[in-house]
Amino acid sequence: MSETQYPHLFTPIKLGGVTLSNRVIMGSMHTGLEEARGGYHKLAEFYCERVRGGVGLIVTGGISPDFRGRLALPASQLSYRWQLAKHRKLTTAVHDAGGALCLQILHAGRYAMHPFAVAPSAIASPISPFKPGALSSKAVRRTIDNFIHTAKLAEQSGYDGVEVMGSEGYLINQFICQHSNRRDDEWGGSFENRIRFALEIVRGIRQQTGKDFLVIYRLSMLDLLEQGSDWQEVVELAKAIEQAGADVINTGIGWHEVRIPTIAASVPRAAFSWVTQRLKQQVSIPLITSNRINTPEVAEQILAQGQADLVSMARPLLADAEFVSKAGIGKSNLINTCIACNQGCLDHVFKQQRASCLVNPRACYESELKIEPARHPQHVVVIGLGPAGLACAVTAAQCGHRVTAYDAADIGGQFNLASKIPGKEEFSETLRYFSQQLRRLKVAVHKHTTVSPEEIASLQADVVVLATGVTPRIPDIEGIDHHSVMSYVDVIQGRRSVGDRVAIIGAGGIGFDIAELLLERSIDRFDWYDFWGVDRHYQQRGGIKEVDTPVMNRKIVMLQRKTSRPGKHLGKTTGWIHRLTLRKAGVEMMSGVTYLNIDDDGLHIRHDGEDKLIAVDSIITCTGQRSNTVLLSALREHEIPTHVIGGAFKAAELDAEFAIRQGTERALRL
Ligand code: NAP
Ligand code: SF4
Repeated sequence: MSETQYPHLFTPIKLGGVTLSNRVIMGSMHTGLEEARGGYHKLAEFYCERVRGGVGLIVTGGISPDFRGRLALPASQLSYRWQLAKHRKLTTAVHDAGGALCLQILHAGRYAMHPFAVAPSAIASPISPFKPGALSSKAVRRTIDNFIHTAKLAEQSGYDGVEVMGSEGYLINQFICQHSNRRDDEWGGSFENRIRFALEIVRGIRQQTGKDFLVIYRLSMLDLLEQGSDWQEVVELAKAIEQAGADVINTGIGWHEVRIPTIAASVPRAAFSWVTQRLKQQVSIPLITSNRINTPEVAEQILAQGQADLVSMARPLLADAEFVSKAGIGKSNLINTCIACNQGCLDHVFKQQRASCLVNPRACYESELKIEPARHPQHVVVIGLGPAGLACAVTAAQCGHRVTAYDAADIGGQFNLASKIPGKEEFSETLRYFSQQLRRLKVAVHKHTTVSPEEIASLQADVVVLATGVTPRIPDIEGIDHHSVMSYVDVIQGRRSVGDRVAIIGAGGIGFDIAELLLERSIDRFDWYDFWGVDRHYQQRGGIKEVDTPVMNRKIVMLQRKTSRPGKHLGKTTGWIHRLTLRKAGVEMMSGVTYLNIDDDGLHIRHDGEDKLIAVDSIITCTGQRSNTVLLSALREHEIPTHVIGGAFKAAELDAEFAIRQGTERALRL
């Protein structure tokens, strides 16, 4: 075996009939291609690119064993022989590429977003508007049979195994915990009764499929729920699952309805691997750990410390299909790291859109956004190296164009600011990735260089791409020049000091960022587990504990003119974390405000028909941006073919996902 920087990560392992050359499993992730017309062809491309990038075993997105178990009505189900053909296309493609594929069987139970939902008991979940019907005893038996039938169909389709989804608060988990199981028959009441559903499914699959057919069980090791399992129950369940015939146990953390973040950017890397480690001594089959593992270094450390036998990653492999192979050749600095933003992946899925990735727009678009040698290589000049300019410069260079790039500052644009926000430190990984790519692709980069239209003209470029970004909007409020007023840029860059009483004008994404930055600077000690009430000693059911709210020695008021709830437009899957973080810390939020003026006393507003004073010593403007296109008209005068991208193209609702995608697509169309 060749020398590797990550010896544990690249130690082979045999699971069922599958031998893997490394310890990375691509975890289950719904992409939206499962239901799309022609989606299986695109899904095959998506998976195969990851297999070619070194992933040995992939778990599909969740597929329901029956109609009622679908997550939504358009969601996928595998119950009939006529469905085998499309699954065979997928398994054949993955096998031909040299990989292995397991089908995840997921029954949504009370999380189903349709009126036919069923559950152990008729208790609605807080995340679905549909109250489920309680399964009759006969229907429970039928549902078990459906799971087993789907596993048999999966085997016939050529899948190497199945993952039984027993965590995250889906149907099996709903049977296990009293929180959602109030039955008094053989499926409810005692712990032994509540786990019977899970065990019969695993036992049935084991008995009715071949001995090499891999059975993975995803076990909720930490429900993060008041009436969740206690540690002893987790251990008992794991032992029973092993006994029932599972080959591997994967780690599940937290129910979807729980208001504790488990995979967002603010969650520390590998924050939950300690849970898997606790179970390691209790069972003899391999354990997979998961959640916020996004670099080979973190994965290696987990394995080296014996916390788990394998690591599951989903989003990091969306971000970079070659994650494993790059790590394998010791080039982890070339990995496009997942920044855990959820913007391009989960936020899309929850809006019933195709998943992709903010830092890698090719994810799930492999057959549409192809990086191929340009037919007519050109000299491309990119002005501005924020996310849009970086994506354009790097993609153009990958296609064989000669690229010259300028930035008036360092590379990164808005990402430089974002990476300084607590919980967004991962953004600096994207800048590391892009700088490595610029160097590797020999892009001529001129940092801290402001170029005039004449200088650009003298370069005789075939095409100029203007990616000059945005400038903060200064709101038109009387007294806006007052010495207490500063922009968010001043605060993030530490150019201005902020007082103890603060008003933030603008409660959009950056208003929230600034409030979180001030929050972090205003508390003496911040412990993520204490803040969210996660008990690493696992003394109570669900592994939760009393929240330790930090005392903030600063008063912050956030304001907006709209009457809607502040932060309403933040990310679909992460907005609640930001809103809850600020609420827990005592940040006051006001909507429907009219700004009157600013003076030595503070910010004067009209609210609820009354004139009020917000007595503060610092006022921070987070009032959006304007496009910076100062060069555009001059370039047009010089008749230089120019494309405008990113924030310079559209400042309203400026977002990095749009910027990187637009920069990439522009480069592919040059
Ligand atoms: P934004 O989200 O559009 O928010 C701008 C804020 O400024 C709004 O609250 C708006 O509220 C206020 N505003 C706009 N014009 C104003 C004016 N003339 N006078 C006073 N107030 C004014 O923009 P952003 O905060 O700059 O963020 C930029 C982009 O990055 C957004 O798309 C945002 O979603 C994204 N982002 C997201 C996150 C996140 O999801 N955590 C974090 C950072 C950035 P009113 O008009 O109601 O007063
Ligand atoms: Fe990771 Fe964000 Fe990409 Fe999702 S969109 S895979 S969270 S970088």
